[in-house]
Amino acid sequence: MEDTYRHKGMRRKLVETVRGKGIADERILKAIGKIPRHFFMDSSFDAFAYRDVPFPIGAGQTISQPYTVAFQTELLEVKKGDKVLEVGTGSGYQACVLLELGAKVFSIERQKTLYDKTKLLLRELNYRPKLFYGDGYKGLPTFAPFDKILITAGAPEIPVELLKQLKTGGLMVIPVGGGEGQKMIRIKKISDKEFAKSEHGDFAFVPMLKNKAR
Ligand code: SAH
Repeated sequence: MEDTYRHKGMRRKLVETVRGKGIADERILKAIGKIPRHFFMDSSFDAFAYRDVPFPIGAGQTISQPYTVAFQTELLEVKKGDKVLEVGTGSGYQACVLLELGAKVFSIERQKTLYDKTKLLLRELNYRPKLFYGDGYKGLPTFAPFDKILITAGAPEIPVELLKQLKTGGLMVIPVGGGEGQKMIRIKKISDKEFAKSEHGDFAFVPMLKNKAR
């Protein structure tokens, strides 16, 4: 795998595109400028890696659009040292953005082929999130509570188990909606029983699936 001047040039343009769409957090823009997104896709598609579009990564899944990655990350208000749970590792790109912000990242993926592939790739790139093969609806009770929880698949409803694993004062960002589209929702945990919810626009994600065999 190579990160050429051509790739770096395309990446700089991508950063400006994402900035132009309203992402202001310089730390996030810097992460996008640093991470070689073409490594997370099939090598024959490396020109697509720096367009602001989602792209298929195998197993019927997609790597999220860079703007969407940046937008979700911005809503999550990640601080250095935050313990972050991601549901839907996919290509691992989002996990790397979180790592660049100094988060401790725990990420779950339910597709074994993707989990295996991404584990190898991230090791090669020297990114060290803790990766888990399993059902994101269950979260990771052993490692809870988390400062932040990020769902990167469209959830038909807000998983109650994940709310339990969020720290008081913590934030969850989750696209909610069972059909074609989802609303981006941010939830702040005020106390065990009290949550503040805000809405942040329309998005389209692949579905967050229950742990059934397929
Ligand atoms: N964050 C990813 C994009 C993920 S696409 C990236 O940066 O590339 C959504 C991912 O969520 C898919 O890989 C899908 O397999 C996974 N997924 C769907 N339902 C899940 C569940 N219940 N638990 C864990 N992962 C799930």
